[in-house]
Amino acid sequence: MEEKEIIKFDDFNLSRELNSAVSAMGFEEPTPIQSKTIPILLSGRDVIGQAQTGTGKTAAYGIPIVEKAEPENLLVHAIILTPTRELAIQVAEEMNKIGRFKRIFAVPIYGGQSIDRQIRLLRKGVHVVVGTPGRVIDHIRRKTLRLESVKMVVLDEADEMLDMGFIDDIGTILKQTPKERQTLLFSATMPKEILKIASRYMQNPEKVMISKDALTVPMINQIFYEVRPSEKMDALCRLIDAEDSDLFLIFCHTKREVDDVASDLKLRGYDAEAIHGDFSQFQREAVMKKFREGRIDVLVATDVAARGLDISNITHVVNYSIPQNPESYVHRIGRTGRAGKEGVAITFVTPREDRQLRLIQTVAKTKIKRGKLPTLDDVMGARIENIKERIQEFVDDKRLDAFVKMAERLSEGLTPIEVAASLLKFQLEGFGAEAEKRGDLSIEDTGASPGMVRLFITIGRQQKIRPGDIVRHIAEKAGIDGKAIGNIKILEKFTFVEVPKDMAEKVIDAVHKGMMAGKKISAAPARPRNP
Ligand code: AMP
Repeated sequence: MEEKEIIKFDDFNLSRELNSAVSAMGFEEPTPIQSKTIPILLSGRDVIGQAQTGTGKTAAYGIPIVEKAEPENLLVHAIILTPTRELAIQVAEEMNKIGRFKRIFAVPIYGGQSIDRQIRLLRKGVHVVVGTPGRVIDHIRRKTLRLESVKMVVLDEADEMLDMGFIDDIGTILKQTPKERQTLLFSATMPKEILKIASRYMQNPEKVMISKDALTVPMINQIFYEVRPSEKMDALCRLIDAEDSDLFLIFCHTKREVDDVASDLKLRGYDAEAIHGDFSQFQREAVMKKFREGRIDVLVATDVAARGLDISNITHVVNYSIPQNPESYVHRIGRTGRAGKEGVAITFVTPREDRQLRLIQTVAKTKIKRGKLPTLDDVMGARIENIKERIQEFVDDKRLDAFVKMAERLSEGLTPIEVAASLLKFQLEGFGAEAEKRGDLSIEDTGASPGMVRLFITIGRQQKIRPGDIVRHIAEKAGIDGKAIGNIKILEKFTFVEVPKDMAEKVIDAVHKGMMAGKKISAAPARPRNP
């Protein structure tokens, strides 16, 4: 019989530093691959895991690596091999987040980047090296990377590394590591060659596979859009604007992402609310009440928070982050299309998540159609349709007569079409301006220094504001370190200030619509300097 699955991070008995990292990353509960893999890795055994990007596989091996590493010992504890530089960078970033509180450091080592820079980093000492096989071998030959202290080796996306012809390189690298190491292999597919590597280089590995229980997919219009991470917010806004909808339920992986997406939507003028595991019962009920009263158009939630929601009029479910397993996909999309209404399930897929999309389709035995994002013209068309419907409804309304009189006065000397066209302009003008503004509101491109976002705040010299005031105000309101705040430029009525990208939303949330020097201020991402 299968063991009962662990469902809480607490059940892993991780150290305080690891628990802090997990909660800072906004993870509410382990993904299925994490539930299965983490205890086995902590017990010291080798693991072959079937998982691809999007399942939470990095943390599945990253958490045990960091848990076992000794921060004071600045030697390479673990080496993670990846097929591509993008994956190496992404994994190193995630490892540094997991290792943040324990002070475990990871560096990516890949071809195409200056080798001297990498040598300098390696010389300083790191606990985890994430690299592409060719460049790792290069460093081993130059003796700038030594692997005799390695305790864990990860072969990530092993099938891709095989396809790219790295098999011999992997053998060469593994030979440099101690025999008593722990070896982990993650792969989306499990062809014979992978099993051969396992038998050659691993010791009695435990296999962790994704369950293939039959899943029943409800009858729902399922569409995916391929978008880059930075394009997701604009894509979402277009969809909300163009679709005929009652309620959008948006799913994100982490609590932080839920907060970010909800506040970004609010900033763009939508009636959006967030809900996740950090909410008290009271806050939850307040959000639900608003939702039921139709005062919210968009609800942003984590899987965990959405589980207990009892709401029926969801017309659209959006997987803002791709579900980490097919079961979650089926549960999420099952929230729409109830009570005889046809629902729409939308999934955002980044180029790297293509395999995860395929896996969902195979396991859930469903077809998700590729969609094309609506253009601004489409959005406009949808608005016109909407107005037409409302006109049709109003024509039967008792109050029509009073307005007919006003319309007659308005059309003196004009044709009805001229009047209608002008009114339409007034009606849509606000919308056009909104849409244009939204286009600018991406925090990806504000013309700031790398890693920073330039914010625009409506206070300036007129209010006798000085840079120190801005730093103090932001640091205090947003609860961040004043040292993190970058360039500040104060103009007559406005101020531009640079803040680290990962704090931008928090800063905006904290100061937007607040008071400073006796004035109500607004804060938003700035327009790029050279659009
Ligand atoms: P990966 O499959 O490792 O590429 O992870 C995909 C995404 O899921 C990354 O953005 C992770 O930070 C996120 N993630 C990993 N584990 C969890 C979790 N337990 N809960 C929520 N998000 C997670």
